[in-house]
Amino acid sequence: MSDKPTHAPLNQFPIVDDALVVGGMTLRQLAAQVGQTPFYAYDREAMSRRVSELREALPEGVSIHYAMKANPMPAVVDHMAGLVDGLDVASLGELRVALDSGTPAAEISFAGPGKGDTELKGAIAAGITLNLESPGELERALRIGETLGVAPRVAVRVNPDFELKSSGMKMSGGPKPFGIDAEQVPAVLKRIGESGAHFRGFHIFSGSQNLRPESLIEAQNATFELAYRLADDAPGALEMLNIGGGFGIPYFPGEQRLDLGPVSENLAPRLDECKARLGETEVVIELGRYLVAEAGVYVCEVVDKKESRGTTYLVTNGGLHHHLAASGNFGQIIRKNYPVVTAHRVNGSPRETVSVIGPLCTPLDILGDKMELGAADMGDLMVVLQSGAYGFTASPHLFLSHPAPLQVLV
Ligand SMILES: *Cc1c(COP(=O)(O)O)cnc(C)c1O
Repeated sequence: MSDKPTHAPLNQFPIVDDALVVGGMTLRQLAAQVGQTPFYAYDREAMSRRVSELREALPEGVSIHYAMKANPMPAVVDHMAGLVDGLDVASLGELRVALDSGTPAAEISFAGPGKGDTELKGAIAAGITLNLESPGELERALRIGETLGVAPRVAVRVNPDFELKSSGMKMSGGPKPFGIDAEQVPAVLKRIGESGAHFRGFHIFSGSQNLRPESLIEAQNATFELAYRLADDAPGALEMLNIGGGFGIPYFPGEQRLDLGPVSENLAPRLDECKARLGETEVVIELGRYLVAEAGVYVCEVVDKKESRGTTYLVTNGGLHHHLAASGNFGQIIRKNYPVVTAHRVNGSPRETVSVIGPLCTPLDILGDKMELGAADMGDLMVVLQSGAYGFTASPHLFLSHPAPLQVLV
């Protein structure tokens, strides 16, 4: 027995006769239906279950928004739109998909530095909420609003004076491209008040991919305190307070599933307090990966099997050009394996220690490094789990000019 850390148990998909079943089909069946490998498959049932479990876990009265950049496939967004209370977009392209889903403009917000005039114009015309990233962006939004004859709906994205500890990606505290420094916010609020823009509230996002309840609790507490402080200078009541998200999922060996119990226990009294201090403010949590990542798989096919000085390589037709994050090149410092399984031999034997690689001429093109997997051969399907977020659209498809993967919602 080795005491190497293992992946957290994953049970979002049934296993029938040792074959992984996604959307009611084995992956061999699904591959036949799709017509090609590699592909991404997203399971709508798994997404629905995740959202309803989350609502069950969180105190009543919190709104859940879906941050579309995690997975902007239109069919996925349509499905998510029916489950959540709002959508957060990060570009005009995402905004079009959000509006196509039938989500009312009042439930859509737009964050991200570097919104161009075209994007501001599109957002203001649509009547969605702009999460302002700088005083300059406010001035441009006001000018554009004037030419359109529409009062922009604006929230102030605050760059807080604290950060979400042990986060996968830190996005606040210190100098940051995101949001307006807390100390600059009062002046911006004054300007909004004078301008006639429609003030919506605050957006305070302090980090991403966090698995530690105590870090999330600390950040949420600091977020409410900061909001109360800043609200003193607000031009009106806060309609909305977006407290960010940051809920993580287990990707790598040794990681444990996030326990929402303590987070929720802390949040419940915070919501009461918020109501007492701010009134009928809608408190929003915005999540991307937590809602969709575990519902998705990436499936590729073994095209060669070779030995090299003691290492067995499964060479597949999929790789970092389709799934950059699984290759370890999307924000990881030390490469670790995503959970990978052999599609038709998930738990059973025989097992082999193999490295699953892609077809690109670079040593970075690794999907699984020396993993013990159900034995596979040419023509067999390999599956990367936890792939429903930051996969397809976060990967450099053009690198080496292989065909792009397909995506299906099942
Ligand atoms: C990327 C992003 C999210 C989503 O982050 P996840 O880790 O996918 O939950 C939410 N809000 C903002 C502002 C973001 O930039």
